[in-house]
Amino acid sequence: PRKLLIVVTPTYNRAFQAYFLNRLAQVLTLVQPPVLWIVVEENTASMETADIIRKTGVMYRHLVSVKDLTDVKDRGVHQRNTALEHIERHRLDGIVYFADDDNIYSFELFQNLREISRFGTWPVAMLAQSKNKAILEGPVCNGSQVIGWHTNEKSKRLRRFHVDMSGFAFNSTILWDRKRWRRPITSPIRQLDTVKEGFQETTFIEQVVEDESQMEGKPIGCSSILNWHLHLDTRNLVYPKGWMLSKNLDVR
Ligand code: UDP
Repeated sequence: PRKLLIVVTPTYNRAFQAYFLNRLAQVLTLVQPPVLWIVVEENTASMETADIIRKTGVMYRHLVSVKDLTDVKDRGVHQRNTALEHIERHRLDGIVYFADDDNIYSFELFQNLREISRFGTWPVAMLAQSKNKAILEGPVCNGSQVIGWHTNEKSKRLRRFHVDMSGFAFNSTILWDRKRWRRPITSPIRQLDTVKEGFQETTFIEQVVEDESQMEGKPIGCSSILNWHLHLDTRNLVYPKGWMLSKNLDVR
């Protein structure tokens, strides 16, 4: 039987939400089942999101992550934790992938995910409108062996692993089957809400693997780009006065 792909997507209400969710949903419908799409919203589940994900025909769970409203904005960290708890509690056996709603994913990416046994990683192209260029973040490989990392930003040099949130996936059984993966018992696996921005990925990965020897570089040689991390700065776009849409624009 084919492995289950567990795709975790934190999302929130904003003008681009329907566009982002529809685009991600469309690539997921192309992927051979079984795929489980775990969509996690903040505080309340919106009808608009429910509609979009229901229409796609992909197997899904629509979860809500309730957090203290006084908390600082954490860009999806709390929502991903909610999904991890759900996966652990229900012992969902498959490959877990954190797919933010705003990135662009190729169909090939999902085919590669199925080949992961423990932990897979690959380079992601980061697209920043403000910088007008694409930079790589992720592993440098010799075959499927990870031998180094593409590093860019000075502020992030101290990270142990230079991986984007959308540049790795892992076997869910790592979350509970310590014997099988021979992992030392550490604190429970969490992406701590308090971790500094830019260090969330490495903090999480350090809990799942010990070093590069436990990683599988994808695809062989890590030389092709499977997904793109989009930093779309929509704040400075000029709209005619009175035409601004702040909520999810879902056209029926
Ligand atoms: N996100 C969210 N609530 C927020 C901010 C972000 O649910 O207040 C989600 C967002 O929809 C996306 C993920 O968290 O799926 C990452 O957000 P973003 O792309 O803004 O962060 P970046 O990748 O730019 O750090």
